[in-house]
Amino acid sequence: MNYQARLARLAARLDDVDAILITGMENIRYLSGFSGSSGAVVVGPENGWLITDFRYWEQAEREAPHLSLVRQRDPLWQSVAEHVLQLGIERVGFEADKLSVDHWQHLRGKTAQIAWQPKVGLVESLRMVKDPDELRLLNEAADIAAQALAATLARVKVGMEEWDVAVELESHMRQLGSDGPSFDTIAVAGPRASLPHGKPSRRRIEVGDLLTIDYGATTRGYHSDETVTVAMGMASTEARTVYEVVRSAQAAGLAQVRPGVAASTVDRAARAVIDDAGHGEFFGHSTGHGVGLEVHEAPWAGQKPATDWTLAEGMVLTVEPGIYLPGRLGVRLEDTVVVTSSGCQRVTKTDKAWREL
Ligand code: ZN
Ligand code: ZN
Repeated sequence: MNYQARLARLAARLDDVDAILITGMENIRYLSGFSGSSGAVVVGPENGWLITDFRYWEQAEREAPHLSLVRQRDPLWQSVAEHVLQLGIERVGFEADKLSVDHWQHLRGKTAQIAWQPKVGLVESLRMVKDPDELRLLNEAADIAAQALAATLARVKVGMEEWDVAVELESHMRQLGSDGPSFDTIAVAGPRASLPHGKPSRRRIEVGDLLTIDYGATTRGYHSDETVTVAMGMASTEARTVYEVVRSAQAAGLAQVRPGVAASTVDRAARAVIDDAGHGEFFGHSTGHGVGLEVHEAPWAGQKPATDWTLAEGMVLTVEPGIYLPGRLGVRLEDTVVVTSSGCQRVTKTDKAWREL
């Protein structure tokens, strides 16, 4: 990972401040390689500092040798205050969405001479376009996930609990080298599949159920995210019809992914297929999101995003339309793709054709 280049890109964007305080842990990892769970980074035009406590000193020296380590001995905000005062600078940016009100009040109280400037999304906007090292890790995570899913689906059968499906899948991912699941695995079947983010229950899978599994593996901080829906034996005509609508919607969304296109265009294309089939009111979430050090990150492909990002080569996003008929059934299909020079390439590999187990 070229951390120096990332720090330089951030430094180049510090137009109205002398330095920026980074407190989002994924942003810290992106800029420094430090994978601990507590710390802060200060980035100036020429230098960068990593402030962390005793638990992480050895790790920080190993993972982030290009940053100067500031050994935190007090509460984090106290050490941060002392450090920025020592630098003798006046204007410091901070991640307004990554600092608690309590820490912010302490910090401001100790640094009356510093003009703090709230910044939101600065590092996140750098993170949107992935470099080759990041793409390699995203592919690695997705490959682990796909292998684990294949091994799990080979054993899934009627009578098994949703819970067992999730446990089995997470265990396979671990055995194949995942650092941990991207998020709590969703495995919901039959009428419970209408819960877009349902937790796996002790309900036993029945013949004819559609089983939706949304899951992911992680490799060195990078996530995979994929959803499959499979039929447990012969499913109803309605289930099959709904499935094919979602599959067409996903294909329509994927067909829009290329550089220069607004992310909302991907959402609109997928949503139009579901609307036309008369199921518009049963597709209540966004079509996609970026994936990287966080499983959900910019760019967002929704109906009315706060920022409508323009897709660029190297961005990674999901396309995951769904239809959820309350108490009856649900279908979601999700792939993660990388934007290429002319379109997109799938990162997740599991085929989404109709499948009966
Ligand atoms: Zn997902
Ligand atoms: Zn997703």
